[in-house]
Amino acid sequence: MHITTDSGRRNDTNLGARLQQAAPGTGFALIPASLAASAAAEWAMVRTPAGRRLVVAPAPGRTEPLLAEFEGEKSEAGGFPLLVAPLTARNAAALRRHLPWLAPRPLPVGTSAGFGDRLGLATSGHVLALRAVGGAIAPVFAQQSIREMTRTGRSPQAVIDDATWGSFEAGWRDVQGADADHLKTADDATACARAGFTWFTIDPGEHVDGRADAGDPAGLRAAWEALPWDRLEDSAASMLARLAGRVFEIEGHRVSLDEGALAKAAVKYGRAVAHVTAMYRHLCAVKGDQPFDLEVSVDETDTPTTHAEHIFVASELRRLGVRWVSLAPRFVGRFEKGVDYIGDIAALDADIRVHAAIARVFGPYKISLHSGSDKFSIYEMAAAHTRGVVHLKTAGTSYLEALRAVAQVAPDLFRAIYVFARERYDQDRASYHVSASVAEAPEPARVADAGLPALLEDFHVRQILHVTFGSVLTAGRSDGSLTYADPLRSILQAHPDVYEDCLERHFVRHLRPFAGR
Ligand SMILES: [Zn+2]
Repeated sequence: MHITTDSGRRNDTNLGARLQQAAPGTGFALIPASLAASAAAEWAMVRTPAGRRLVVAPAPGRTEPLLAEFEGEKSEAGGFPLLVAPLTARNAAALRRHLPWLAPRPLPVGTSAGFGDRLGLATSGHVLALRAVGGAIAPVFAQQSIREMTRTGRSPQAVIDDATWGSFEAGWRDVQGADADHLKTADDATACARAGFTWFTIDPGEHVDGRADAGDPAGLRAAWEALPWDRLEDSAASMLARLAGRVFEIEGHRVSLDEGALAKAAVKYGRAVAHVTAMYRHLCAVKGDQPFDLEVSVDETDTPTTHAEHIFVASELRRLGVRWVSLAPRFVGRFEKGVDYIGDIAALDADIRVHAAIARVFGPYKISLHSGSDKFSIYEMAAAHTRGVVHLKTAGTSYLEALRAVAQVAPDLFRAIYVFARERYDQDRASYHVSASVAEAPEPARVADAGLPALLEDFHVRQILHVTFGSVLTAGRSDGSLTYADPLRSILQAHPDVYEDCLERHFVRHLRPFAGR
């Protein structure tokens, strides 16, 4: 065995040269894009038969302190000392101290994109897509909801650290955020803040009151009177005096909040506003003087957010001192997982146009597109109406691209996952917005190996695979091994180029409409 480098790429640091010249026997394959230098050392990621490793070449006099900081083994290359370190949480934290650009931080106002990564191996592919489109899109590599972490058996720290290793490997040096998505409780927010998340998506969906849309005047009146006025630091009389009958001029659109519309908005979103305010204040206390990004998301509720309701939410959050950078309304039509927008495009165009204008007048803050994967027919419109102050959030399609890679190089494993996912779908779909049916998806036995990758283009197959990730990734045997997740991870790590290629193609199509604005 000997050290290899990808000769087509630039490699001008001493460590790269040293690793190339080093004596045979190490079995390391340098990942050239990872090479970096700081005052204390030179740094690189290598692939070894046992998996990826961090290699540290200390500057003169720095060997002992670095050995104390990082866990790993002392080695040498070309007569110089080296530390070969596993990808542990302690080493990730130490690496972020030396290469501070790897630490997530708040993002600038402008275009950003969130890439959920359920397997923790997708960041290098995300970087390739960002580089290919070239625009000023700020990425969020670490993005996971507590629901997704539970279903994949990952901790907040593991999600952050996987993105650290992936961005180090790919040589990403620009800003990156880390999104604790769909947070529902203060305890979860605390855990994510401690792990290093910098963007907190508050989901007050459980506090959105659907009775407001039921059309029952007596019920509406009772719900209005029962609003948590103390937590809103308000009274019915003062809210009426402040907002009832107001007409808002939003860049030429007139949105009126008559008494009926106000009562509906307050009943529907009043408790949600109180919840977001409490979560925001909790985060301020936990984060102290460290800045963070806050997103407010009501995308997973039953009825669309009207423009009057958006104005109500924004003006009330402002009154209560909440500072947020992004808001995800529930738009008209259907944003289902892993497939294009379902609904009237002209109606959505008119809807987003005004939501984006409200976000400029009351912010500016970003309009966030949740379940944003594969909504190819609406990206241009969203980028144009928001004038680039927009966040595109994709959660599960990096996992689908992993399955596409597996379908290419390990058809038997893909077939087994597909069979299992079909069995799980009717149970697993409960908490998702999907409409696929197993009966309409091709039967595994009728598809030849060569046809398996094309299943990833099928509406029904995409949704079936999309919502069953938790069952697939946690299915295990009595000896503790994971039936599908273990071989899935080892196949992706054995074929990093195949997975990166799938991810790059997929995300270039998502990012291109948003690049360059
Ligand atoms: Zn969402």
